[in-house]
Amino acid sequence: MVLKIDLSALKANYRALSGLASGARAAGVVKANGYGLDAATVSAALAEAGAQDFFVALASEAPAVRSAVGGKARIFVLSGHMSGADPGDAIPVLNSPEQYFRDRATRPGRPFAIQLDSGMNRLGFEPDEWAALKAEILSAGPELVMSHLACADEPDHPMNARQLGAFRAMTDGIGVPRSLSATGGILLGAEYHFDLVRPGIGLYGGLPFADALPVVSLSLPVVQTREVQPGESVGYSNSWTASHATRVATVAAGYADGIHRTLSSDGARPRIYLYAGDVACPLIGRVSMDLITADISALSDVPDALDLISAAQPVDAVADAMGTIGYEVLTSLGQRYERIAQ
Ligand SMILES: *Cc1c(COP(=O)(O)O)cnc(C)c1O
Repeated sequence: MVLKIDLSALKANYRALSGLASGARAAGVVKANGYGLDAATVSAALAEAGAQDFFVALASEAPAVRSAVGGKARIFVLSGHMSGADPGDAIPVLNSPEQYFRDRATRPGRPFAIQLDSGMNRLGFEPDEWAALKAEILSAGPELVMSHLACADEPDHPMNARQLGAFRAMTDGIGVPRSLSATGGILLGAEYHFDLVRPGIGLYGGLPFADALPVVSLSLPVVQTREVQPGESVGYSNSWTASHATRVATVAAGYADGIHRTLSSDGARPRIYLYAGDVACPLIGRVSMDLITADISALSDVPDALDLISAAQPVDAVADAMGTIGYEVLTSLGQRYERIAQ
């Protein structure tokens, strides 16, 4: 089971997104173990491509990034400073008055950033909380004041302009670097860019960055093959039955590896394919914990491995079939794959 990570494509995506960001600095968002690809590996590559700022979700994710990027880079912790989770040498993005006072009491003089809620109602100071503490907080010299867009993957959504207006109303003239946009916001245009942009998914080849180069490919070993006769069934619950003689490959990966059980075929109708090059082999029957089965009748030779994610079937095609988004496919991939970065 080999999860290949194309670091030159990752770096090219970083440079492309930085180039779109109209002079703003581009950070690298490497939370959730670098979107499942290995935080240390992707952080080191992004640093080589020029990233000096990194974002993780939790303080516990920061040390792996630190050891990959060296002492100078800034590592921001999006969950801020929770009780019992000292951010160490990372920079907490403080999300509430409670976090601000906790952080200043325990880390006086150390760098911090602020998140404001511009309408998403997930993290950040409410406008009235910010108004009450703004002068005090600004005099303490935050590294960054940021917010996050709820609908940036829908360019025509009126929420984008509403959040932009709310963010500007809270931050115009503060004299502190500002950040609003992740991948989707970068694509909305210059007024959304401010001083720092925070791309994640676009770096890893996912939508909404349609021009991204693919970064991930996933190749799964064939364990055995067999000839199944008409009327015989394959896998749990007999959910797939051969209507004609079929060559079936059993492949070593399953729902424990992030291949959701919802990718099981719907009777005879496949929901997803395994690829041998550009030849599509339908996944048939149920996805089991560690195994899946595919109809390889179209192949003249039995390959050693079949691809679930490749140029023929990119991450977002797999996501569509699972009824989810590329982010969830990548972060579900699991620990059993050998991750090979090249
Ligand atoms: C995850 C996240 C990002 C990166 O978002 P993408 O859509 O993956 O580019 C940026 N900022 C915040 C606050 C996030 O939570």
